[in-house]
Amino acid sequence: MKPRIFSQGFSRYNVSSIGGRLLTRSPQFHTSSSSSASASSASASSASSSSSPPPRSRRWVQVALVTTAAAGIGAYIRSEQGSGSSTLSPTRFTPYYLVSREPVSSSGSIFTLQPPKADGSNRAVYEEAWTTGIWSVMFKQPQLQIGRDYTPLPSTSPEEEEDECLRFFIRRDPHGEVSRYLHNLDMGAPIEVRGPRVECGIPPNTQHILFVAGGTGIAPALQAAHTLLRRTDQTRKPRIHILWANRNRDDCSGGINDTVVVPAPQRSWFFGRSTPPAASPAPVASPLNQTRSLIVRELEALRAQYPGQMTVDYFVDEEGSAIGKQAILDFTKSVGLSSPKPSQDNLILVSGPEGFISYMAGPKLWAEGMELQGPLRGIIKELDLKDWAVWKL
Ligand SMILES: Cc1cc2nc3c(=O)[nH]c(=O)nc-3n(C[C@H](O)[C@H](O)[C@H](O)COP(=O)(O)OP(=O)(O)OC[C@H]3O[C@@H](n4cnc5c(N)ncnc54)[C@H](O)[C@@H]3O)c2cc1C
Repeated sequence: MKPRIFSQGFSRYNVSSIGGRLLTRSPQFHTSSSSSASASSASASSASSSSSPPPRSRRWVQVALVTTAAAGIGAYIRSEQGSGSSTLSPTRFTPYYLVSREPVSSSGSIFTLQPPKADGSNRAVYEEAWTTGIWSVMFKQPQLQIGRDYTPLPSTSPEEEEDECLRFFIRRDPHGEVSRYLHNLDMGAPIEVRGPRVECGIPPNTQHILFVAGGTGIAPALQAAHTLLRRTDQTRKPRIHILWANRNRDDCSGGINDTVVVPAPQRSWFFGRSTPPAASPAPVASPLNQTRSLIVRELEALRAQYPGQMTVDYFVDEEGSAIGKQAILDFTKSVGLSSPKPSQDNLILVSGPEGFISYMAGPKLWAEGMELQGPLRGIIKELDLKDWAVWKL
């Protein structure tokens, strides 16, 4: 999740726009299968690509396009019908207020923001985004006039929903302009917010998601879990497996792995260096008396709400554990075994620092003022998974 710079106009990130106002991206998923749309060049893999994808890829494109466009239009209309400046809008900044900041680790906190008026107008905007998939909003730093994107966390209480609050897990970058600014704000301070912006629609037929998250990349993973699992009904039980890598145990304290993790040759994506293979297996359990971080508790609450449908494994850089090919294969193979027929309904999402995304799935690219997916590379490409579409966040 590399920073995007705030711009007054909308053309810069205008991958998919409605009436000139940017609302959504139009995802063209990679498929890992070597026989399908696995991109070999930036242009072939970009959202703006004009190349014609093979049938499976095209189905994904169509579904994702329809879903994201519909949600975008809905969100836009609702926001414009809303009660003036108290309703979140993708076309202008709305003042929210910081009402709480709870530490999650030494470097990250959960921020709760409240709109000036809770008249119900925001609920429809949020709901549209939650139904669609993974979304973000932009915060403005008023002195420097720069903006950064942040990912709302699923709500954990009815009061929060009643007050139309949004919550965010934000890491303080000691040298970062906006994250430092946010961590230094007093309670009650105004924060200008613009959105929603759909980063990746989760197609309605998605059955399985493997979410590979690094650091604050866990926020979109929580979103994906929330959106996918609420589609559960009598006939349909979608599943999500999250692989979450962090620098320090402190970032995910109390997290207990759901599967036995085989140690991978360690590579520190966070600091951009490789180190020799870890000598000992990744821990599968944390000390019982270890405090569970807020994010770990939220993951566990979601898992408890949907038994058997959500699993999480934790990887900690300082403990010598890293996400390797085996951790990915363990899940993709389990899906292959449990499904009567392989399907196109499987999605791998990758989110985290730039180096992490590059290592897992190849770098994203910038071209003509737009951020593009770039070709599928990294260990996911090497695995040559059949029937899995890939999206880098
Ligand atoms: C869609 C999306 C969703 C996101 N969601 C979240 C989220 O939920 N939570 C979260 O914490 N983050 C999230 N991010 C990341 C977030 O948007 C910011 O990028 C992050 O907070 C850092 O911003 P900053 O202004 O503090 O740092 P910046 O000022 O942008 O600096 C970032 C780093 O770059 C270095 N740097 C800056 N300028 C230079 C330079 N000239 N040369 C060399 N190095 C330089 C700084 O030292 C710093 O370490 C998301 C990003 C995206 C794109």
